[in-house]
Amino acid sequence: MVGASSSSRCRGLSVPSRSLGRVQELHDAPLAPLTTFRLGGPATRLVTATTDAEVIAAVREADDAGTPLLLIGGGSNLVIGDKGFDGTALHIATAGFSLDGTTLELAAGEIWTDAVARTVEAGLAGVECLAGIPGSAGATPIQNVGAYGQEVSATITEVTAYDRRSRATVTLANADCAFSYRHSRFKAEPERYVVLRVRFELEDAAGLSAPLRYAETARALGVEAGDRVPLTTARETVLKLRAGKGMVLDPEDHDTWSAGSFFTNPILTDGEFAAFRSRVAERLGESAEPPAFPAGEGHVKTSAAWLIDKAGFTKGYGTGPARISTKHTLALTNRGDATTEDLLALAREVVAGVHEAFGVTLVNEPVTVGVRL
Ligand SMILES: Cc1cc2nc3c(=O)[nH]c(=O)nc-3n(C[C@H](O)[C@H](O)[C@H](O)COP(=O)(O)OP(=O)(O)OC[C@H]3O[C@@H](n4cnc5c(N)ncnc54)[C@H](O)[C@@H]3O)c2cc1C
Repeated sequence: MVGASSSSRCRGLSVPSRSLGRVQELHDAPLAPLTTFRLGGPATRLVTATTDAEVIAAVREADDAGTPLLLIGGGSNLVIGDKGFDGTALHIATAGFSLDGTTLELAAGEIWTDAVARTVEAGLAGVECLAGIPGSAGATPIQNVGAYGQEVSATITEVTAYDRRSRATVTLANADCAFSYRHSRFKAEPERYVVLRVRFELEDAAGLSAPLRYAETARALGVEAGDRVPLTTARETVLKLRAGKGMVLDPEDHDTWSAGSFFTNPILTDGEFAAFRSRVAERLGESAEPPAFPAGEGHVKTSAAWLIDKAGFTKGYGTGPARISTKHTLALTNRGDATTEDLLALAREVVAGVHEAFGVTLVNEPVTVGVRL
């Protein structure tokens, strides 16, 4: 077993608080500082829990009282309405990193990108291309976090969660998690599971990465897709590529005041894709070819970034306080003094523009709280 971290994940909030043991409780607490968008109004009550027992106690208390509950990890995939959240917001700040051979177990509150760095240091492959993704380990199964050819579903073996329906702690094997592209059972049943711990099976490949599946990473390293490279090289290359797109958090850089990709890549049936291709030909000329990736029997995945760009929403689009990132068309950003309504107005404009241009409806990736697109 290797180490267990104990750093606090609480960020400073200047609102009245009282402490119940180690549980921190605040009232009328601003949620914006807990999100990477820095957006959203206050929660009636904000509880920060640092152990599994505290998490479960806070969830049970809210459920017994019939109080709405909002789970917050790193707040990097949340769009919270300007009116805030009328209920208990539970900030999960538990700590625990344990490595036993190639088996990694993370407490939900562990910072994901730090945990990835530690697995790379330990010489283990499987999550190195997920470096730089903000947020907590406990949220990674929710939307089956993925980037640069890796998804957590490939290495997660089990998820331990508190089941609000049975009021018991349960362990779900990978096959029970219904993982798919940016989706899972946890996302499908958002009121049910509170993830406490996630277990991964990594690979000891003598200091090498898993085979690189993403062409851009392989190209950047001058190797072929499918090749392995030193683990540290893989991680550093991904971090560099991500930073160039504003996809690594930097408080000084408003291009990272975002939720990363704001829209998922649309998955179309073969028939829908054929109709989409003719729209593309009509609008952009016969030689224009939209990106197409296999997405299971009878389905094709295309690129949301391509659609947005070709519909006329280029990098930096917008004149208000919410704009498209200057580094990536897929990230909507807060330039400093935006409201959630500003952000949603921009998102709605993009959705309508893409639909009008190509007949494809974009779907938001971040979870919305108290608002809808
Ligand atoms: C700059 C940037 C780049 C990004 N790049 C990527 C990327 O490459 N790939 C990718 O997949 N995502 C990416 N994201 C999105 C985001 O980082 C991930 O979705 C991340 O897993 C969210 O973690 P979080 O702890 O911040 O979740 P939060 O935003 O706090 O919560 C997200 C959802 O999960 C729920 N939740 C949180 N913790 C728990 C828990 N313990 N149990 C049950 N439910 C919980 C919340 O209630 C909410 O519904 C990016 C975001 C940013 C800001």
